[in-house]
Amino acid sequence: MTARIIDGKATAEALRARIRQAVVTLEKSHGFKPGLAVVLVGEDPASLVYVRSKGKQTIEAGMASFEYTLPVDTPETELLALVDRLNRNPDVDGILVQMPMPKHIDAKKVIEAIDPAKDVDGFHPLNVGRVANGEHALAPCTPTGCLILAMLAAPNLAGLEAVVVGRSNIVGKPMAQLLLAQDCTVTTAHSRTRDLKAVISRADLLIAALGKPQLIKGDWLKPGAIVIDVGINRIDLGNGKSRLVGDVDFDSAIERAGAITPVPGGVGPMTIACLLRNTVEAACTRRNVAMPAI
Ligand code: NAD
Repeated sequence: MTARIIDGKATAEALRARIRQAVVTLEKSHGFKPGLAVVLVGEDPASLVYVRSKGKQTIEAGMASFEYTLPVDTPETELLALVDRLNRNPDVDGILVQMPMPKHIDAKKVIEAIDPAKDVDGFHPLNVGRVANGEHALAPCTPTGCLILAMLAAPNLAGLEAVVVGRSNIVGKPMAQLLLAQDCTVTTAHSRTRDLKAVISRADLLIAALGKPQLIKGDWLKPGAIVIDVGINRIDLGNGKSRLVGDVDFDSAIERAGAITPVPGGVGPMTIACLLRNTVEAACTRRNVAMPAI
């Protein structure tokens, strides 16, 4: 069996096109443009790439983009004051403070300072709690993207054995909650799981988010499994060259899985598209306007 490739790039493009359309509709019928503020403290190269990409895609979607790049030694009080101004700015619907932050800043304090109604990353404890309760909320973007891709392979996930590998607050834990809300039977595996291979072999749906290059091999999979690979790992090929790989060994997994996301071009592009969607949702909810279908 050769797995069907779940095309995250094309899915994200289609989602962004629907978002653009929704933004046009909102501007025409209600006279506002959703706005996203992205704050970066420091000059971490990967974060700079993410932040630029978020700003570019926000503008391409027809939304207002507010970008703040602060020096690495910005005091926590100054960052909190900026978050407070953004909370009170009526043109800002979504606030994202790029992680990781410099060590002298308490990330938890910053996340908790963001107005939950503008928390488009879905990291504020109120939104985390709502997702855990199975209530509608601004949910974290990467797990939401994973769910959309999994549902392309199986529109009804109810009753499936889902295994999530990884228990981080940004991917693994919210992913497990979102799958529970879809009536999956969910197992969360992590670095202390005793027999990862045995756990994975039960999965009708596998979400791999452990950050270990190609650790999960094709012969660990249940034949026909849906595999969503969140991992983004750069491996050295020698000669000064490198390439991105996932947490799943794609070449062996494609022979055994029923459907699989590639890396790159799988989950990655979905994250920003879901962030833009959350921003439109936050904009509509704050203004008490029905959200156009996206
Ligand atoms: P993290 O380091 O915070 O968490 C990794 C998790 O994997 C931990 O809970 C740990 O217990 C578990 N783990 C580690 N080694 C393991 C092992 N050998 N067996 C089983 N479990 C193990 O990472 P994260 O932030 O959740 O990210 C995970 C991966 O997803 C990384 O490669 C990251 O780059 C990628 N990522 C991608 C996107 C995207 O947009 N596509 C977004 C976020 C993270």
